[in-house]
Amino acid sequence: FENELTLLTYQQNGNEDEFHEAYEEAIESVKAELGEYHGLRIDGNRVDTDDRFQVTSPGDLDLEIGEFASGGESEVDAAVSAAEAAFPEWERRDVDARTEVFRTAADRMRDRKFELAATLSLENGKNRTEAMADVDEAIDFLRFYSRELERSDGYRFDTGQPTPRQHTTNLLRPYGVFAVVAPFNFPLAILAGMTTGAMVTGNTVVAKPASATPLIAHTFVDVLADAGIPDGVCNLVTGGGSEVGRPLTEHEDVAGVAFTGSREVGLGIERTFREQGKRGPVIAELGGKNPVIVSDEADLDGAVEGVAKGAFSFSGQKCSATSRVYVYEDVFDEFTDRLVDSTEQLGIGRGEKLETVVNPVIDDSALERYRRITEQARTDGTVRTGGSVIDDDDLPEGRYVEPTVVTDIPHEHDLAREEHFLPFVTVHPVSGLREGIEKSNDSDYGLCAGIFSEDDEEVERWFDEVEPGMCYANRTQSATTGALVQAQPFGGWKFSGTTGKFAGGYWYLQQFMREQSRTRVE
Ligand code: NAP
Repeated sequence: FENELTLLTYQQNGNEDEFHEAYEEAIESVKAELGEYHGLRIDGNRVDTDDRFQVTSPGDLDLEIGEFASGGESEVDAAVSAAEAAFPEWERRDVDARTEVFRTAADRMRDRKFELAATLSLENGKNRTEAMADVDEAIDFLRFYSRELERSDGYRFDTGQPTPRQHTTNLLRPYGVFAVVAPFNFPLAILAGMTTGAMVTGNTVVAKPASATPLIAHTFVDVLADAGIPDGVCNLVTGGGSEVGRPLTEHEDVAGVAFTGSREVGLGIERTFREQGKRGPVIAELGGKNPVIVSDEADLDGAVEGVAKGAFSFSGQKCSATSRVYVYEDVFDEFTDRLVDSTEQLGIGRGEKLETVVNPVIDDSALERYRRITEQARTDGTVRTGGSVIDDDDLPEGRYVEPTVVTDIPHEHDLAREEHFLPFVTVHPVSGLREGIEKSNDSDYGLCAGIFSEDDEEVERWFDEVEPGMCYANRTQSATTGALVQAQPFGGWKFSGTTGKFAGGYWYLQQFMREQSRTRVE
């Protein structure tokens, strides 16, 4: 399997300039189309609602992304009915006929990748590198899940003849209608991954994107429609978490849920689903509080670079963002000083600007959370750099905040235990590997972790004892973020996920199916 690595490919071919030109042109053409109204998508039709909501760009609050239909219970009902009606025919389709839709959609997304990346930058603030990585990952999901379904012959095989006249086929079958609820931070890759996982295996879907990112969800559903997805197989209902997400995930005819988002919402969905007496899957990918250990055997340049990128790219709004760092005492001062210097060099600005690393945060509640935690950090610890909301005449009106490095916070403090989802990292001294691992593991979360050490034995011991789903040693391009489909399957232990199976991995698709054994006496 070959990952889509757009920027790297341009760089390797020595024509990175063309990448930037294409992206900048796409920004202009996408901007020219913004501000339209978008209805719901039910059974292949556009459905309008009286209630609507506006979305503006987090980096320029005067830039209107669009106006979107705001669904409610009756629209959820209609969408679930459409998905139910489409299910029998879709389930019966041959594997190849199903995967062809997703393979074609992946090709169309490739053709439109700069437009998709530009849409992401404008809608959720991602810089061009991150936005293109989101598009690349989405394409990878479509292609990888198609390949896996084909490779396993649709998860169907003959078990042979246990006795002379009995013949058994063993297979996995889809459940029916899946509710898919997606977050704002990978609004294309995660939406595409979850919906493709559900649909390629023969389920039908009602999808709800995050309220901050409905436009890219519409673009994705358009691509699927162009690629030939039958009406009713993929329905899209935009609107709020309480207005659409809740009635959708609680709908009696929904057989399974695929959710990515916060722990609170995800566990609430799982609890209610079980209370309803349902037995189907709740595949929930949740938050993280991702620790990094910096050893006195580390290459400090690499460690500083990896932590700064892991903590501050996309403004720390990644489940995999580096959020607490445990540094051996003898290198603590040097590492922290260098991290502060490096953080102060990071470009802050609109996603679409070339120099931007730290983009605006998504909404007013993120801004409020930033004010609250930085105030708390000033009271209970030492803010080494950052800590302020930016009010700069050179920037458009947007939600810009400074990347923040904090020390002198006890490991037990909420600031070092809760997920904040902001450009905010705490740095703590530790006596050595044992204490670093103990503190790394002392968390409800278990998503990602990193270590910087040139000592192989130390790294090996860390791999064996640390408790997240994803472990990265000496990763200077980012200490904890940036997994690739198939190469680095992505998921969490503990409260970072509900199933222990990883997106982009070999066991992901099976979660959307249940086993059946068919014996025929001949
Ligand atoms: P969120 O607030 O939990 O929202 C996620 C989705 O759930 C949104 O579509 C939201 O709708 C919807 N929702 C809200 N309340 C709901 C309810 N009561 N019932 C059903 N749906 C509801 O998360 P977010 O702020 O978008 O994303 C950040 C979180 O996602 C972080 O915790 C991050 O760690 C996690 N995440 C995890 C992974 C992973 O792979 N483990 C990947 C990415 C993100 P509205 O937008 O309309 O509120």
